[in-house]
Amino acid sequence: MAAIMDEGALRLRMAQVMKAMDDRGLNRGTSGNVSARCGAAMLVTPSGVPAALLTPEQMVLVQADGSTAPGALKPSSEWRMHQGLLERRPDINAVVHCHSRHATILACANRPIPAVHYMVAVSGGTSVPVAPYATFGSPELAQGVVEALDGRYAALMANHGQIVVAPSLDFALAIAEEIEEQAAVYWGTLAIGGPTLLAADEMNTILQRFKSYGQR
Ligand SMILES: [Zn+2]
Repeated sequence: MAAIMDEGALRLRMAQVMKAMDDRGLNRGTSGNVSARCGAAMLVTPSGVPAALLTPEQMVLVQADGSTAPGALKPSSEWRMHQGLLERRPDINAVVHCHSRHATILACANRPIPAVHYMVAVSGGTSVPVAPYATFGSPELAQGVVEALDGRYAALMANHGQIVVAPSLDFALAIAEEIEEQAAVYWGTLAIGGPTLLAADEMNTILQRFKSYGQR
């Protein structure tokens, strides 16, 4: 489980995770966003600030009723999606969203990632589904993503990117990086005639083993 972090520590870690996504090629410009549960509220990245310029103080505290403090920056346009996930998933404390290239290629082809490699199981399932397309920032997108992620840690978002939920920011970043890797692997296999998929019972064995790892 995630170590308990106070608001200041969460703000700092969010800025670090956004910079790490830039450094690792998972995101560019101002497209990605990150959130963390903060008591009954959530912290979310502000709209339109590039990761390289983002400071811990700029993270926006959004209350359960959607309100923010006077003088706060405008929250990410995807704040409803983050809030919906944190509300519906008491098992998670962090959400990471990005437009990493290969995940986005598959999302734009509406192709879920099948059991192409055993590490697909980091998604919490035997495949990575695609949430239906809806306009960015819309309640419909938030609803579709919440449903696609039911019981899972990762999903693609049709014609958009990828979304990850996890007990901690670090865990979410690690899963997002692995989903991008698996998307690249699957995309590569499609170029050479398609993958040989793992059997369902083997994937279920892997899923059980990942669960029993506990701290990952
Ligand atoms: Zn996006």
